[in-house]
Parts: sequence; C-alpha cells; structure tokens
Amino acid sequence: MNIDRSLFHPDYKPEPFWWEAARPGTQYSTDLPAETEIFIVGSGYSGLSAALELAREGRKVTVVDTLAFGEGASSRSGGGVSAGVNIGKGIAGGPGQAKQSDEQKKLIEGLMSESMAAFEFVGTLVERENIDCHFERRGRFVGAYTPDHFEGMKKKAEDLNRVIQVGARVLPRDEQRSEIGSDFYHGGMVIERAGKLHPSLFHKGLLDACNRVGILLCAHTKVNQIDGALGNFTVKTAKGDCRAEQVIVATNGYTGALTPKLRSRIVPISSQIITTEELPEDLAHELIPNGRTISESPRITSYYRLLPGDRRVMYGGRARFESVPADVSAALLHRMMTDRWPQLKGVRITHSWSGFVAMTTDALPHMGQEDGIHYCTGCNGSGVAMMTYLGHQVARRILQDGRSDSAYAGIDLPKVPVPFYSGNPWFLPIVGNYYRYLDRKERRRGGA
Ligand SMILES: Cc1cc2nc3c(=O)[nH]c(=O)nc-3n(C[C@H](O)[C@H](O)[C@H](O)COP(=O)(O)OP(=O)(O)OC[C@H]3O[C@@H](n4cnc5c(N)ncnc54)[C@H](O)[C@@H]3O)c2cc1C
Repeated sequence: MNIDRSLFHPDYKPEPFWWEAARPGTQYSTDLPAETEIFIVGSGYSGLSAALELAREGRKVTVVDTLAFGEGASSRSGGGVSAGVNIGKGIAGGPGQAKQSDEQKKLIEGLMSESMAAFEFVGTLVERENIDCHFERRGRFVGAYTPDHFEGMKKKAEDLNRVIQVGARVLPRDEQRSEIGSDFYHGGMVIERAGKLHPSLFHKGLLDACNRVGILLCAHTKVNQIDGALGNFTVKTAKGDCRAEQVIVATNGYTGALTPKLRSRIVPISSQIITTEELPEDLAHELIPNGRTISESPRITSYYRLLPGDRRVMYGGRARFESVPADVSAALLHRMMTDRWPQLKGVRITHSWSGFVAMTTDALPHMGQEDGIHYCTGCNGSGVAMMTYLGHQVARRILQDGRSDSAYAGIDLPKVPVPFYSGNPWFLPIVGNYYRYLDRKERRRGGA
C-alpha cells in the first residue's frame, strides 16, 4: 500500500497517544515470591481490579505480566466507558432477534443490569482510589449507518431505557448536527449514561492503588505453565516457580498457549487508533459539540472522541481485523475519519497504534473456571468498564468460596465454530472482507 507521508505530523509516533501521560512501566516491580495465596496472570484492568478487591479483604496477592504493567489493551484503548449497549443486541424482540423464552429474557436483562453496574463501578473506583484520569460522564452518540439501522434504534432505545435506564433517545438525521458535525449517518441514538476517560491514567491509578495495599507486582514475568489443582497450584514463570492456592487468568486478547482451552474459545482481533494534531477550537467544537464518545451501527464499527482538552480527535476502528503496521492502519483510519468528517482533510496524524481485544461467538464477556483456574475474558472490544467489573466479580467469587452473585458466572463460554480452531485466527482477513462487503451493500441499499 502506497502511504501518503503528508498525512503524518513531523512529530508522529507509532505508539499510543496515552503513553505521553503514563507509559506502561515496571514501577513497583519486585522479585517473584516462592508462594502467594492468589496468583494473577495479567496486569490489565481485570487483573488489577481482581487483585485490589482480594487485597482489600486481606488476601496475599501476586500479579505478573509478560510485558510492562498495562502494556496490553488497558493502556491502548479508546477510553469509552459504556454499559449495556452491546449486550442490548440480545434483547428479546429486538430487530433481527428470535423470540426468547422468559428465562432467556430474564438472563439477558440481568446481564444488562450488571453492565450498568460495571459503568457505575468505574466511577466508584475512580472516586475511591482518587484516580485523576479525566473521567467524564458526557454520554455517547451511536450513528445509524443505514435508514434501517435508525429504525431499529427506536426499539433499542426503548428497551435500554426500560431495562437499565441509560437515558437513550433517537435523533433524526436532520437534527444530528447537534451531536456530530457530519451528515454521514442516517440519524442516531444518544445515550446519556456513558462516559470516557484517559485509559493509561486510569490504569496507572489502579496500579498505584494495588501498590498501596501491598500487592506484589512482577513485570516482564511470563507464565509458561500452571500445574496442580485448586488449593495447590505451581505456577511456572520465566523468573521461577510460585506456589498458589488460587490462580486467575486475566489475559483477554493476549491469551496464549498457557491456557489452550480458553484460547480456543476466543478470537483475538486487532483494533487500531489514530490521534490528530490540535484543531482550531471552533472546529473541534463543531465536530462533537457535546463532547460525547461516538460509535456507529455497522458490523465493522468505528469509535471516536475528542481527547482531554477538547482540541484533538481520536479515531479508532477495525481498519483491519489482523495486525498491520501502524503507518498502514493510520492511513486507512484517516480515510475513514475524513469520510465522516470531510472538514478534517489535511489534518495530520500525531500517533497511531493498535492492540488486541478478545471476541466471543455470543458477543458477551465471560467469567468462569476451567480446571480450577479462574478467568475473565471476552471484552468484545468494550472492556474498560466490563473487564474492570468482571475482575472484581472473580475476586468476589473467590472471597465467597466459589459462590458468585454475578449473572456472568452462569453462562458458558461457547466454542468458536471453526473446525480444529486452537487460537490462530487464520480466517480473520476473509471474515473482515466479507463484513466490509456486507456493510457496503447494506449502505448502498439504504441510499447512501
Ligand atoms: C485499540 C483498542 C481500543 C479499545 N477501545 C475501547 C473503548 O473505547 N472502550 C472500551 O470499553 N474498551 C475498549 N477496548 C477494550 C479494552 O481496552 C479491553 O477490554 C481491556 O483493556 C481489557 O483489559 P484486561 O485486563 O482484561 O486485558 P489486557 O489489558 O489486554 O491485559 C492482559 C495482559 O495479560 C498479559 N499476559 C498474557 N499472557 C500472559 C502470560 N502467559 N504471562 C503473563 N502475562 C500474560 C498481557 O501481557 C497483557 O498485559 C479497546 C481495546 C483496544 C486494543
């Protein structure tokens, strides 16, 4: 692919914008202990959130990561904090949904209520741990990609309000400029109860809190094997062995050969982001007048927002499902961004990066136990709130001797229906192209 170098600012960096404020590091890193009560693999939001709850209840906890702390998805995300919207796809009677039994309906509503609890949980953590991470409850706008999608949003907004009172309302196309300086969408849905934060500052705040309560943190410590059973595990790492009563695997999109069963039930996909140089104040205001996060309704979706300070744009999406060089995804995302905002042609890119998220075939996040090992996984691209919350729920389950109050503990993590799939998603480019084709076809049919 020929890349137009004029798209890039002279100070361009192929790494997360967020790292300018808080780069994943090894602060607080210590030697691996010979034993611990609870051993946590993965130092992202879910691992740290689990650790924090356990340590606050007096348990001895050790968290390790192959990389620097938070160097997985948790310091790379778009920072959108939302609840219920993805899970709401499953609401009984929603567009394209088969009729569901009362029991299924109750389960879905329980999952949705908890996803709202997840959103509120982020606010509670930020306040309780005094985390300075630009957490703002400014809501979300979801653009309708086709007129049919807009029609579907009317029912969805009703359902979301009925079940989790998110303050959802639809906005017709001729009014959408009150939310986004673009005519790209066929109207959309405003959700008041949603927010955004600075992902790596949020992570840093959690890490600081973990250190304050005496959790042992070991960076650059890859776990290679977990032997034993509940109550008596031996965790073998690149830096030695550690005995543990309980183990939590919190590796989400970075799940590897360590847990082959878990790996074969999720599909890791790449998500990519760019940020722009500073814009004139009036232009930035015109783009997103109310400072909401923006997402949209097609299969291959984009998510975007203003950065803290409200003068620069962050634009994220699935330019490709598989990993591609940062310059390549930057050029593709810039084109997608200017399709939505033609007024940004000529605006230069300052940062471009990517990270991995874990998709599941039921589009739901999961927590559970496999061979005695606890896990939470499957953020499906939306895990700032959910993975933080599920980490907490896994911790609660351990503290309650295996009993969980969470509806997420009651659903099985489904298999990926691809013969012999073991975690290598060779089919992603094909699926990506097919979804892109379907999205384009639907949009053309919708008159765009
Ligand atoms: C580009 C991008 C944009 C996103 N945007 C949003 C958004 O706007 N809103 C939203 O809600 N969500 C978003 N997400 C998703 C969100 O970032 C994730 O759901 C969340 O950070 C997952 O947290 P986690 O702790 O479960 O996993 P991670 O933060 O990915 O942490 C997993 C860790 O496990 C470690 N690990 C793996 N294997 C081992 C091993 N064998 N030994 C030791 N350590 C190991 C990895 O090194 C990694 O650090 C985005 C993700 C990406 C990548």
